[in-house]
Amino acid sequence: MILVLVEKDLAGDAVEVSLETLTFARSLSEAGGGVPIDAVVVGDVPPALRSELASYGVRGVHALTGPAFDAFAGAAWASGIETVLATTRSVVVTAAGTPRGGEVLAHVAARAGVPMAANVLSFGGLSPFVVTRQVVGGQALEEMQLAGRPAVFTVAGHAVEAAPAAAAGPAEVHEHSPEVAEADLVARVVSTDEPEPDLSGGLTSARVVVGAGRGAGSADGFADLLELADLLDAPLGVSRVVTSLGWRPHHEQVGQTGSRISPDLYIPCGISGAIQHWAGCSSAKAILAINTDADAPMVTRATHAVIGDLHEVVPAINAEIRRRRTG
Ligand SMILES: Cc1cc2nc3c(=O)[nH]c(=O)nc-3n(C[C@H](O)[C@H](O)[C@H](O)COP(=O)(O)OP(=O)(O)OC[C@H]3O[C@@H](n4cnc5c(N)ncnc54)[C@H](O)[C@@H]3O)c2cc1C
Repeated sequence: MILVLVEKDLAGDAVEVSLETLTFARSLSEAGGGVPIDAVVVGDVPPALRSELASYGVRGVHALTGPAFDAFAGAAWASGIETVLATTRSVVVTAAGTPRGGEVLAHVAARAGVPMAANVLSFGGLSPFVVTRQVVGGQALEEMQLAGRPAVFTVAGHAVEAAPAAAAGPAEVHEHSPEVAEADLVARVVSTDEPEPDLSGGLTSARVVVGAGRGAGSADGFADLLELADLLDAPLGVSRVVTSLGWRPHHEQVGQTGSRISPDLYIPCGISGAIQHWAGCSSAKAILAINTDADAPMVTRATHAVIGDLHEVVPAINAEIRRRRTG
């Protein structure tokens, strides 16, 4: 069996990256001759979630319930998954490469005494089990053989496109309310602040992201960038300089200490491309850099670049988009 940890958003729906991970798991299942796929969900499984998981090829949904699972605790979730593993013969345990997915699966692997691979993009073979993953902030790809069972790994965001199964049956829900040791609850979430809403949903799942760095010049220098984001229905992602200077809120930060994004298109404007920023955006499929410096690392790594002042280039792009839409 392939066991997939499915994360829910605040509305209780499966997050997009978990649906991508289920799609990834299906290709593994097919390569293995139809290995069944089960999901682990923490908390309730409303009927809509159950049928969505079924449509992605899930046969069994293991719901972890009880007071120990009311708030996030990585070790407690791992202990719950351990309970599920004891009743299923799972050859693979996987999750989306989110901060929570990584934390929980690291605990799962440590408890099982097996290695774990983070940020997997693809698999090369089942026996031995070989995966390709991103390392060094996305600057290099690494092939890794996962010895030991179960094979434990997280799937990088947008490694595959989420797609329901062509044919799917119903999914059965199995409730588990395991005892969780006090030690597994020591590090747990005690309160959650909902982030201020951004322009169009989460940075981590956006298909297009408009980036802004020190080149914006000041807190008042974002009007054209916000307009571009609005025209493209994209969120704004910024560098740490921008948040440190208080020009934009911290939840918009991209990078090592911000969000890791993997859009189809990233448009970094006035961002030099320091390694800590690159760590958060290197998974973008295409990058259109706008910068006055042709030698800036972001420009030399970009798929396309416009060398110029963002305060001239961005309004010109906005005007052209508006012109094409109206005319
Ligand atoms: C531990 C640690 C963690 C960090 N984490 C992060 C992180 O998560 N995210 C992050 O972003 N940084 C992070 N940093 C900071 C990082 O090292 C850089 O300082 C930061 O990314 C630089 O931001 P920037 O590109 O906006 O500014 P700069 O490096 O100053 O670059 C500004 C760019 O704008 C261009 N420019 C200037 N004016 C214009 C204009 N009018 N039009 C067009 N282009 C223009 C310049 O040519 C330059 O390339 C971290 C640093 C440390 C030490």
